[in-house]
Amino acid sequence: MKQYDWIQTEYAELEEAGLARHLRTVMSPPQNTVTIDGRYVVMLGSNNYLGLSTHPKVMSAAASATMVYGTGASGSRLISGNNKIYETLENNLAETKGTEAALVFSSGYAANISIIPVLAQENDLIISDALNHASIIDGCRLSRATKKIYRHCDVEHLKTLLAESTDFKRRLIITDGVFSMDGDIAPLRDIYEVATNYEAMLLVDDAHGFGVLGKRGRGTVAHCGLEGEDIVQMGTLSKAIGGLGGYIAGSRTLIELLINRARGFIFTTGLPPATLAAANAALNVMRDSPKLRKRLHEHADTVKKALTRMGYTLLPSQTQIIPVVLGDPQLATDITQALLAEDVFAPAIRPPAVPAGTSRLRVTVMATHTDRDIEHALHGFKNVLGSF
Ligand code: PMP
Repeated sequence: MKQYDWIQTEYAELEEAGLARHLRTVMSPPQNTVTIDGRYVVMLGSNNYLGLSTHPKVMSAAASATMVYGTGASGSRLISGNNKIYETLENNLAETKGTEAALVFSSGYAANISIIPVLAQENDLIISDALNHASIIDGCRLSRATKKIYRHCDVEHLKTLLAESTDFKRRLIITDGVFSMDGDIAPLRDIYEVATNYEAMLLVDDAHGFGVLGKRGRGTVAHCGLEGEDIVQMGTLSKAIGGLGGYIAGSRTLIELLINRARGFIFTTGLPPATLAAANAALNVMRDSPKLRKRLHEHADTVKKALTRMGYTLLPSQTQIIPVVLGDPQLATDITQALLAEDVFAPAIRPPAVPAGTSRLRVTVMATHTDRDIEHALHGFKNVLGSF
Protein backbone atom coordinates (compact mmCIF):
# COMPACT_ATOMS: atom_id res chain seq x y z
CA MET A 1 0.00 0.00 0.00
CA LYS A 2 1.36 3.34 -1.15
CA GLN A 3 0.81 5.20 2.12
CA TYR A 4 3.42 2.96 3.78
CA ASP A 5 6.13 3.25 1.10
CA TRP A 6 7.99 5.89 3.12
CA ILE A 7 8.84 3.23 5.71
CA GLN A 8 10.95 1.32 3.18
CA THR A 9 12.64 4.56 2.03
CA GLU A 10 13.37 5.69 5.56
CA TYR A 11 14.78 2.34 6.63
CA ALA A 12 16.93 2.13 3.47
CA GLU A 13 18.43 5.53 4.40
CA LEU A 14 19.36 4.24 7.85
CA GLU A 15 21.06 1.20 6.35
CA GLU A 16 22.87 3.34 3.81
CA ALA A 17 24.29 5.56 6.59
CA GLY A 18 25.46 2.54 8.60
CA LEU A 19 22.98 3.46 11.32
CA ALA A 20 20.46 0.61 11.13
CA ARG A 21 20.17 -1.32 14.39
CA HIS A 22 19.42 -5.02 14.69
CA LEU A 23 18.35 -7.07 17.64
CA ARG A 24 20.75 -9.70 18.97
CA THR A 25 19.40 -12.69 20.82
CA VAL A 26 20.92 -13.61 24.17
CA MET A 27 20.30 -17.29 24.82
CA SER A 28 21.61 -17.55 28.37
CA PRO A 29 21.22 -15.70 31.68
CA PRO A 30 22.78 -12.22 31.63
CA GLN A 31 26.05 -13.12 33.34
CA ASN A 32 29.75 -12.39 32.84
CA THR A 33 29.74 -14.82 29.92
CA VAL A 34 26.70 -15.35 27.71
CA THR A 35 25.62 -17.14 24.57
CA ILE A 36 24.72 -14.48 22.06
CA ASP A 37 23.71 -15.18 18.47
CA GLY A 38 24.94 -18.73 19.04
CA ARG A 39 28.43 -17.75 20.29
CA TYR A 40 29.74 -18.14 23.83
CA VAL A 41 31.30 -14.77 24.63
CA VAL A 42 32.63 -12.60 27.44
CA MET A 43 29.95 -9.97 28.01
CA LEU A 44 31.31 -6.41 27.94
CA GLY A 45 27.99 -4.76 27.23
CA SER A 46 25.84 -5.29 30.29
CA ASN A 47 24.51 -2.82 32.86
CA ASN A 48 24.13 -5.68 35.35
CA TYR A 49 27.28 -4.23 36.91
CA LEU A 50 27.24 -6.26 40.12
CA GLY A 51 25.81 -9.42 38.58
CA LEU A 52 22.77 -9.22 40.86
CA SER A 53 20.18 -10.28 38.27
CA THR A 54 21.28 -13.89 38.77
CA HIS A 55 22.21 -13.69 42.45
CA PRO A 56 20.60 -16.66 44.25
CA LYS A 57 18.97 -14.47 46.94
CA VAL A 58 17.51 -12.19 44.31
CA MET A 59 16.22 -14.98 42.08
CA SER A 60 14.70 -16.79 45.01
CA ALA A 61 12.94 -13.60 46.25
CA ALA A 62 11.42 -13.18 42.78
CA ALA A 63 10.29 -16.81 42.63
CA SER A 64 8.73 -16.72 46.11
CA ALA A 65 6.88 -13.46 45.42
CA THR A 66 5.40 -15.00 42.27
CA MET A 67 4.24 -18.08 44.14
CA VAL A 68 2.58 -15.93 46.82
CA TYR A 69 1.24 -12.96 44.84
CA GLY A 70 1.05 -14.15 41.21
CA THR A 71 2.56 -12.58 38.13
CA GLY A 72 0.91 -9.19 37.71
CA ALA A 73 -0.16 -6.12 39.67
CA SER A 74 -3.61 -6.16 38.06
CA GLY A 75 -4.07 -2.42 38.13
CA SER A 76 -2.44 0.98 38.45
CA ARG A 77 -1.08 1.72 41.91
CA LEU A 78 -3.72 4.31 42.72
CA ILE A 79 -6.50 1.84 41.92
CA SER A 80 -5.66 -1.77 42.87
CA GLY A 81 -2.03 -2.47 41.96
CA ASN A 82 -0.18 -1.25 45.06
CA ASN A 83 1.15 -4.59 46.29
CA LYS A 84 2.56 -4.36 49.82
CA ILE A 85 6.08 -5.14 48.56
CA TYR A 86 6.08 -1.60 47.14
CA GLU A 87 6.10 -0.18 50.66
CA THR A 88 8.99 -2.40 51.75
CA LEU A 89 10.98 -1.52 48.64
CA GLU A 90 10.31 2.22 48.82
CA ASN A 91 11.24 2.38 52.51
CA ASN A 92 14.38 0.41 51.75
CA LEU A 93 15.26 2.76 48.89
CA ALA A 94 14.70 5.90 51.00
CA GLU A 95 16.86 4.46 53.76
CA THR A 96 19.59 3.49 51.29
CA LYS A 97 19.56 6.92 49.68
CA GLY A 98 19.25 8.79 52.99
CA THR A 99 16.12 10.66 51.88
CA GLU A 100 12.73 11.10 53.55
CA ALA A 101 10.92 9.06 50.94
CA ALA A 102 11.16 7.31 47.58
CA LEU A 103 8.70 6.41 44.83
CA VAL A 104 9.08 3.54 42.36
CA PHE A 105 8.12 3.86 38.69
CA SER A 106 7.87 1.19 35.95
CA SER A 107 11.31 2.07 34.61
CA GLY A 108 13.99 4.71 34.81
CA TYR A 109 12.67 6.08 31.54
CA ALA A 110 9.19 6.41 33.06
CA ALA A 111 10.63 8.10 36.16
CA ASN A 112 12.34 10.80 34.10
CA ILE A 113 9.51 11.52 31.70
CA SER A 114 7.17 11.65 34.71
CA ILE A 115 9.03 13.83 37.18
CA ILE A 116 10.38 16.49 34.82
CA PRO A 117 6.92 17.75 33.75
CA VAL A 118 5.95 17.89 37.44
CA LEU A 119 8.98 19.99 38.40
CA ALA A 120 8.89 22.32 35.40
CA GLN A 121 6.05 23.64 33.25
CA GLU A 122 5.27 26.23 30.64
CA ASN A 123 6.67 29.35 32.33
CA ASP A 124 9.69 27.60 33.77
CA LEU A 125 13.23 27.02 32.57
CA ILE A 126 15.14 23.74 32.38
CA ILE A 127 18.92 23.87 32.01
CA SER A 128 20.22 20.50 30.93
CA ASP A 129 23.71 19.04 30.29
CA ALA A 130 24.42 18.47 26.57
CA LEU A 131 25.02 14.76 27.13
CA ASN A 132 22.04 13.98 29.33
CA HIS A 133 20.17 10.74 28.69
CA ALA A 134 17.37 10.54 26.09
CA SER A 135 14.75 10.02 28.81
CA ILE A 136 15.69 13.44 30.24
CA ILE A 137 15.43 15.00 26.80
CA ASP A 138 11.98 13.45 26.34
CA GLY A 139 10.92 14.56 29.83
CA CYS A 140 11.98 18.12 28.98
CA ARG A 141 9.95 18.03 25.77
CA LEU A 142 6.86 16.82 27.61
CA SER A 143 7.21 19.55 30.24
CA ARG A 144 6.68 22.42 27.74
CA ALA A 145 9.21 24.44 29.76
CA THR A 146 11.85 26.55 28.00
CA LYS A 147 15.04 24.53 27.55
CA LYS A 148 18.65 25.62 27.53
CA ILE A 149 21.54 23.24 27.07
CA TYR A 150 24.88 23.79 28.81
CA ARG A 151 28.12 22.38 27.44
CA HIS A 152 28.94 18.99 28.91
CA CYS A 153 29.95 19.39 32.58
CA ASP A 154 30.76 23.08 31.96
CA VAL A 155 29.76 24.78 35.21
CA GLU A 156 30.79 28.25 33.97
CA HIS A 157 28.43 27.87 31.02
CA LEU A 158 25.67 26.71 33.39
CA LYS A 159 26.29 29.79 35.53
CA THR A 160 26.08 32.10 32.49
CA LEU A 161 22.78 30.57 31.39
CA LEU A 162 21.35 30.98 34.89
CA ALA A 163 22.58 34.57 35.18
CA GLU A 164 20.90 35.55 31.92
CA SER A 165 17.54 33.93 32.69
CA THR A 166 16.14 35.52 35.79
CA ASP A 167 12.61 36.02 34.41
CA PHE A 168 11.38 32.50 34.84
CA LYS A 169 9.06 31.37 37.61
CA ARG A 170 11.06 28.26 38.48
CA ARG A 171 14.40 26.97 37.23
CA LEU A 172 15.50 23.33 37.12
CA ILE A 173 19.02 22.07 36.46
CA ILE A 174 19.25 18.46 35.28
CA THR A 175 22.34 16.32 34.99
CA ASP A 176 23.27 12.66 34.82
CA GLY A 177 25.36 11.68 37.86
CA VAL A 178 27.42 9.26 35.77
CA PHE A 179 27.07 9.85 32.03
CA SER A 180 25.73 6.73 30.37
CA MET A 181 27.85 6.76 27.22
CA ASP A 182 30.98 8.50 28.55
CA GLY A 183 31.34 7.12 32.07
CA ASP A 184 32.44 10.44 33.55
CA ILE A 185 31.04 11.88 36.76
CA ALA A 186 29.23 15.23 36.82
CA PRO A 187 30.95 17.92 38.96
CA LEU A 188 28.04 17.81 41.38
CA ARG A 189 29.60 19.88 44.16
CA ASP A 190 30.10 22.84 41.81
CA ILE A 191 26.73 22.33 40.14
CA TYR A 192 24.99 22.22 43.52
CA GLU A 193 26.74 25.39 44.66
CA VAL A 194 25.62 27.20 41.51
CA ALA A 195 22.08 25.82 41.89
CA THR A 196 21.93 27.07 45.47
CA ASN A 197 23.30 30.52 44.58
CA TYR A 198 20.74 30.96 41.82
CA GLU A 199 17.90 29.31 43.77
CA ALA A 200 17.44 26.66 41.10
CA MET A 201 16.24 23.09 41.69
CA LEU A 202 18.65 20.25 40.90
CA LEU A 203 17.64 16.84 39.54
CA VAL A 204 20.37 14.17 39.29
CA ASP A 205 19.81 11.05 37.18
CA ASP A 206 21.91 8.42 38.91
CA ALA A 207 21.06 5.42 36.73
CA HIS A 208 24.73 4.43 36.45
CA GLY A 209 26.07 5.63 39.80
CA PHE A 210 23.58 3.90 42.08
CA GLY A 211 24.99 0.69 43.52
CA VAL A 212 28.52 1.37 42.33
CA LEU A 213 29.58 4.76 43.73
CA GLY A 214 29.54 6.20 47.25
CA LYS A 215 29.43 4.55 50.62
CA ARG A 216 27.28 1.41 50.52
CA GLY A 217 26.55 2.12 46.84
CA ARG A 218 24.41 5.14 47.65
CA GLY A 219 25.36 6.79 44.37
CA THR A 220 26.95 9.86 42.88
CA VAL A 221 25.39 12.40 45.25
CA ALA A 222 26.89 10.53 48.23
CA HIS A 223 30.16 10.02 46.32
CA CYS A 224 30.39 13.81 45.94
CA GLY A 225 29.72 14.40 49.66
CA LEU A 226 26.27 15.91 49.09
CA GLU A 227 24.13 13.47 51.01
CA GLY A 228 21.28 15.18 52.84
CA GLU A 229 21.40 18.24 50.56
CA ASP A 230 18.39 19.57 48.66
CA ILE A 231 18.82 17.48 45.52
CA VAL A 232 16.14 15.41 43.81
CA GLN A 233 17.59 12.05 42.89
CA MET A 234 16.37 9.73 40.18
CA GLY A 235 17.72 6.22 39.77
CA THR A 236 16.95 2.90 38.21
CA LEU A 237 16.60 -0.66 39.45
CA SER A 238 17.58 -2.01 36.04
CA LYS A 239 21.35 -1.61 36.16
CA ALA A 240 23.42 -2.35 39.31
CA ILE A 241 20.23 -3.62 40.99
CA GLY A 242 19.79 -6.08 38.13
CA GLY A 243 16.02 -5.90 37.64
CA LEU A 244 13.52 -3.37 36.37
CA GLY A 245 11.99 -0.14 37.64
CA GLY A 246 12.98 3.47 38.29
CA TYR A 247 12.72 5.60 41.39
CA ILE A 248 12.71 9.14 42.66
CA ALA A 249 14.20 9.78 46.10
CA GLY A 250 13.53 13.07 47.85
CA SER A 251 11.32 14.81 50.38
CA ARG A 252 8.02 13.32 51.57
CA THR A 253 6.06 16.23 50.05
CA LEU A 254 7.75 15.79 46.67
CA ILE A 255 6.76 12.11 46.67
CA GLU A 256 3.16 12.99 47.66
CA LEU A 257 2.98 15.52 44.82
CA LEU A 258 4.36 12.96 42.33
CA ILE A 259 1.71 10.43 43.39
CA ASN A 260 -0.88 13.05 42.44
CA ARG A 261 0.71 14.60 39.35
CA ALA A 262 3.22 12.27 37.67
CA ARG A 263 1.39 10.91 34.63
CA GLY A 264 3.83 8.03 34.09
CA PHE A 265 3.05 6.93 37.64
CA ILE A 266 -0.71 7.40 37.57
CA PHE A 267 -1.65 6.02 34.17
CA THR A 268 0.18 2.71 34.09
CA THR A 269 -0.03 -0.70 35.74
CA GLY A 270 2.08 -1.43 38.83
CA LEU A 271 5.17 -3.61 38.52
CA PRO A 272 4.85 -7.38 39.02
CA PRO A 273 5.45 -8.66 42.60
CA ALA A 274 8.49 -10.66 41.42
CA THR A 275 10.16 -7.49 40.11
CA LEU A 276 9.56 -5.63 43.38
CA ALA A 277 10.76 -8.48 45.59
CA ALA A 278 13.85 -9.01 43.42
CA ALA A 279 14.75 -5.32 43.62
CA ASN A 280 14.31 -5.31 47.38
CA ALA A 281 16.54 -8.36 47.82
CA ALA A 282 19.13 -6.97 45.38
CA LEU A 283 19.18 -3.68 47.27
CA ASN A 284 20.13 -5.53 50.45
CA VAL A 285 22.86 -7.52 48.69
CA MET A 286 24.16 -4.38 46.99
CA ARG A 287 24.45 -2.39 50.23
CA ASP A 288 26.28 -5.16 52.01
CA SER A 289 28.73 -6.02 49.22
CA PRO A 290 31.62 -3.55 49.21
CA LYS A 291 33.74 -6.34 47.72
CA LEU A 292 31.59 -6.42 44.57
CA ARG A 293 32.09 -2.67 44.12
CA LYS A 294 35.83 -2.98 44.70
CA ARG A 295 36.10 -5.76 42.15
CA LEU A 296 34.10 -3.76 39.60
CA HIS A 297 36.39 -0.74 39.90
CA GLU A 298 39.52 -2.92 39.77
CA HIS A 299 38.34 -4.53 36.52
CA ALA A 300 37.54 -1.11 35.10
CA ASP A 301 41.07 0.13 35.91
CA THR A 302 42.69 -2.95 34.40
CA VAL A 303 40.73 -2.66 31.15
CA LYS A 304 41.28 1.10 30.80
CA LYS A 305 45.02 0.78 31.32
CA ALA A 306 45.38 -2.18 28.95
CA LEU A 307 43.31 -0.68 26.12
CA THR A 308 45.16 2.62 26.39
CA ARG A 309 48.49 0.79 26.22
CA MET A 310 47.33 -1.03 23.08
CA GLY A 311 46.63 2.32 21.43
CA TYR A 312 42.84 2.54 21.64
CA THR A 313 41.40 6.01 22.24
CA LEU A 314 39.35 6.13 25.44
CA LEU A 315 37.31 8.98 26.83
CA PRO A 316 38.34 9.96 30.37
CA SER A 317 35.83 7.80 32.25
CA GLN A 318 36.00 7.51 36.05
CA THR A 319 33.68 4.52 36.24
CA GLN A 320 32.84 1.04 34.96
CA ILE A 321 31.66 2.53 31.63
CA ILE A 322 34.61 2.61 29.25
CA PRO A 323 34.06 4.42 25.93
CA VAL A 324 36.42 3.33 23.14
CA VAL A 325 36.03 6.09 20.57
CA LEU A 326 36.20 5.15 16.89
CA GLY A 327 34.37 8.05 15.20
CA ASP A 328 32.84 6.34 12.18
CA PRO A 329 29.63 4.35 12.83
CA GLN A 330 30.48 1.62 10.32
CA LEU A 331 33.93 1.15 11.85
CA ALA A 332 32.34 0.78 15.29
CA THR A 333 29.95 -1.90 13.97
CA ASP A 334 32.78 -3.68 12.16
CA ILE A 335 34.90 -3.80 15.31
CA THR A 336 32.00 -5.14 17.37
CA GLN A 337 31.61 -7.85 14.74
CA ALA A 338 35.36 -8.62 14.72
CA LEU A 339 35.36 -8.86 18.52
CA LEU A 340 32.44 -11.30 18.36
CA ALA A 341 34.64 -13.55 16.25
CA GLU A 342 37.09 -13.39 19.20
CA ASP A 343 34.23 -14.39 21.55
CA VAL A 344 33.96 -10.96 23.09
CA PHE A 345 30.83 -8.81 23.02
CA ALA A 346 31.38 -5.04 23.15
CA PRO A 347 28.46 -3.11 21.65
CA ALA A 348 28.84 -0.36 19.05
CA ILE A 349 27.06 2.86 20.02
CA ARG A 350 26.22 5.20 17.17
CA PRO A 351 24.19 8.38 16.64
CA PRO A 352 21.62 9.34 17.80
CA ALA A 353 22.70 7.68 21.08
CA VAL A 354 25.97 9.65 20.88
CA PRO A 355 26.91 12.82 18.93
CA ALA A 356 27.83 12.38 15.24
CA GLY A 357 31.52 11.62 14.75
CA THR A 358 31.87 9.99 18.18
CA SER A 359 30.66 6.45 17.45
CA ARG A 360 32.24 4.13 19.93
CA LEU A 361 32.29 0.82 21.67
CA ARG A 362 30.66 1.15 25.07
CA VAL A 363 32.65 -1.35 27.10
CA THR A 364 31.31 -2.14 30.55
CA VAL A 365 32.79 -4.48 33.11
CA MET A 366 30.98 -6.50 35.76
CA ALA A 367 32.04 -7.36 39.30
CA THR A 368 31.40 -11.00 38.41
CA HIS A 369 33.91 -11.11 35.56
CA THR A 370 36.76 -13.44 36.42
CA ASP A 371 40.37 -12.42 35.83
CA ARG A 372 40.34 -14.92 32.98
CA ASP A 373 37.32 -13.23 31.39
CA ILE A 374 39.16 -9.93 31.45
CA GLU A 375 42.35 -11.45 30.03
CA HIS A 376 40.37 -13.17 27.29
CA ALA A 377 38.59 -9.94 26.39
CA LEU A 378 41.82 -7.95 26.27
CA HIS A 379 43.41 -10.61 24.09
CA GLY A 380 40.46 -10.20 21.71
CA PHE A 381 40.95 -6.43 21.59
CA LYS A 382 44.63 -6.92 20.79
CA ASN A 383 43.92 -9.31 17.91
CA VAL A 384 41.27 -7.04 16.46
CA LEU A 385 43.60 -4.04 16.49
CA GLY A 386 45.91 -5.80 14.05
CA SER A 387 43.17 -6.31 11.46
CA PHE A 388 41.93 -2.70 11.10
N1 PMP B 1 18.86 7.45 32.66
C1 PMP B 1 20.03 7.02 32.19
C2 PMP B 1 21.24 7.87 32.38
C3 PMP B 1 20.11 5.78 31.54
O1 PMP B 1 21.30 5.35 31.05
C4 PMP B 1 18.96 4.99 31.41
C5 PMP B 1 19.00 3.61 30.74
N2 PMP B 1 19.76 3.49 29.63
C6 PMP B 1 17.76 5.49 31.89
C7 PMP B 1 17.74 6.70 32.53
C8 PMP B 1 16.50 4.70 31.76
O2 PMP B 1 16.46 3.68 32.71
P1 PMP B 1 15.66 2.34 32.45
O3 PMP B 1 16.48 1.50 31.53
O4 PMP B 1 15.49 1.75 33.80
O5 PMP B 1 14.36 2.73 31.82
